[in-house]
Amino acid sequence: MYSGKAKDVQIYENNKVKLIFRDSISAFDGEKKDFLQGKGEVNCRMSAKLFEILNEYGIHTHYHSMIDNNTLICDKVEIIPVEVICRNVTAGSFCRRYGVAKGLDLLPPVIEFFYKDDELHDPLVTQEVAIQLEWMTKKEAMLMRAVTRAVNNILVELFDMISLQLVDFKLEFGRTHDGRIIVADEISGDSMRLWDKETGEVKDKDRYRKDMGDVVQHYNDVYDNLSKLSKLPELSLSTKAQVIVKLKQTVLDPAGEVTLRSLNRMNYQEIDNIKLGKHVFVNCLTAPSSELLKDLSDMSEKLFSNPLIEDYSIDLWFEEER
Ligand code: 5GP
Repeated sequence: MYSGKAKDVQIYENNKVKLIFRDSISAFDGEKKDFLQGKGEVNCRMSAKLFEILNEYGIHTHYHSMIDNNTLICDKVEIIPVEVICRNVTAGSFCRRYGVAKGLDLLPPVIEFFYKDDELHDPLVTQEVAIQLEWMTKKEAMLMRAVTRAVNNILVELFDMISLQLVDFKLEFGRTHDGRIIVADEISGDSMRLWDKETGEVKDKDRYRKDMGDVVQHYNDVYDNLSKLSKLPELSLSTKAQVIVKLKQTVLDPAGEVTLRSLNRMNYQEIDNIKLGKHVFVNCLTAPSSELLKDLSDMSEKLFSNPLIEDYSIDLWFEEER
């Protein structure tokens, strides 16, 4: 179906695909390329492990199962052509772009969007542009941000348990046949930066980018230490949402008119229209997901608003709990 730089995708049954991890590795938009024996397997195992862990925390991903050393069965999705990068510490292109030193804490962590296009060298893109160019919708951007922050919260704590600092990572998202947005692609040493907390030793793809050697050994080391963990971090993830309910434009708003007349009497002559609305704040005891957003829409339609005379909009976000 598709052959990428490090993986092949083959059609499987029931809206699923096989994701086959090869031993190829590349950097600098494919300019540097090599084969590293065992790299496909360790990235496959690492992705399976991390997807399973994320699933346990209620993060919705494309992962179903690992059927052999190099193959995952995943939901078939349409990949959104915008990568989401989350940074806890300055490194890589962030330092080059802004001329700042490596290793500075970013609190709260920074989220960036990049357009997936090797010929253009995956340029940084603003949310506004990506929406305008129809690479993603506003709702997708909101979900992608919230899910990435939730994933960051989990992975930072997880890697901390094996004395590694999660510097940054990349996530890709896909649209399912029934319109959900889920985490897709892989999560492995190729898509994140990990530094040893005590020695600062690099445990990720920068070893390949910078010719530091022993790439697969370090990937395996991280995977082995993760596999030995007997328990996962205790985290209670929650997602915040606010629903704004407003009268439809065509509906008369007597309270708004009274407020407007009062403002005009107080000499605020520049105001000519006031609509009073309602604000509902919701704390949800789950990770952000398309399903949660759908539930919030149902609540808004059935309870928070009167759809005959009111419109509503939903804002959803995840606050890091550290
Ligand atoms: P940077 O923007 O600093 O080059 O990358 C930030 C983080 O995202 C790093 O952990 C890097 O490995 C990951 N990343 C950025 N772009 C890509 C990409 O195209 N493919 C993969 N696998 N990871 C990426």
